[in-house]
Amino acid sequence: MSESSKDAFFVQQVEHWYQYHQRPLPWRQKPTPYTIWLAEIIFQQTRIEQGLSYYLRFIKKYPELPILAKAEEDEILRMWQGLGYYSRALNLLKTAKILTERGGDFPHEVQELMSLPGIGPYTAGAIASIAFGQRVPLVDGNVTRLFARFFGIESPVNHPNTIKIIHSKAEGLVNLSDAPSNYNQGLMEMGSLLCKPVKPSCNECPLSQECSAHHNNKVAILPLKSPKPQKSNRYLYYVFIEKDGKIAVHKRDNQDIWKNLYQLPLLLDTSSIYEKTEFELRHRNLEKMSTIRHILTHQILHLTIYRAEKFFDQNKKKEIRYVETSLLGELAFPVPFQKFFEKILT
Ligand code: SF4
Repeated sequence: MSESSKDAFFVQQVEHWYQYHQRPLPWRQKPTPYTIWLAEIIFQQTRIEQGLSYYLRFIKKYPELPILAKAEEDEILRMWQGLGYYSRALNLLKTAKILTERGGDFPHEVQELMSLPGIGPYTAGAIASIAFGQRVPLVDGNVTRLFARFFGIESPVNHPNTIKIIHSKAEGLVNLSDAPSNYNQGLMEMGSLLCKPVKPSCNECPLSQECSAHHNNKVAILPLKSPKPQKSNRYLYYVFIEKDGKIAVHKRDNQDIWKNLYQLPLLLDTSSIYEKTEFELRHRNLEKMSTIRHILTHQILHLTIYRAEKFFDQNKKKEIRYVETSLLGELAFPVPFQKFFEKILT
């Protein structure tokens, strides 16, 4: 088959398969720019099974953009608790406010969409293509894997040159489609339901007769990836202070992980083994309540929580506030703290 016939076959099969095999996901029932945007933001870095209950809770509480725009930041962070990448939640609220102030309509063009907080090229493409039928290419991890296998791309897919090759392929292919919205959704759906990372369902795949990896027995090795840089270790030391039924907490406000979420009062945050060892020696008399290991994309966090009578860092004392134990659930905490509270307060 010539390259152009193979491209046409690919687009046609993806569109046709999607028509009959798409999952009846809630935002597909009555798609609007708002529901598509909300789904795209929630499902960035999140599997459908993991994020679905969040999507349903959000759409129930904030069925329309202006209602979301009126929400409080703490309320949104609380609803987001457990999903991670909390900047997504903050940006969701910022974008809702901006769009509501401008009259409540989403822009149709990718560039304009990308000027809004939290909307990168992929999300902008998804909104433009799915909600407004624009002919724009969409490439995410699922699509990359599908392309690498079907077209037999054997260079590492996280290498800049390969990324460019895949993007230009995606652009060429979407131009062959009569229904770019269905084609793009079909690509993503096929990547997640058939062309799965492990044990893809080649026997059920309508692309198998022309699939390079399938024919050359390379399904298990494609896509290739250059090794990821090692994650760095970060050591965080906290104190748990309980006074008259209240717990000392602190709201993070820096441009870092867990922005605007609550945590226990922080004593030290370091990546230096020397500083960590020195700190532990200095505080060896404190009662260690819990040690928690929490893995993020680029870092491994090692949290240590000590019990203390009072907060001894005078410089940070004014940032601490005491909250009734029964009201802790109303504040948004990162996952390691939620687990800690579950363990000690139940
Ligand atoms: S035949 Fe298998 S490897 Fe090829 S695209 Fe389909 S599911 Fe993926």
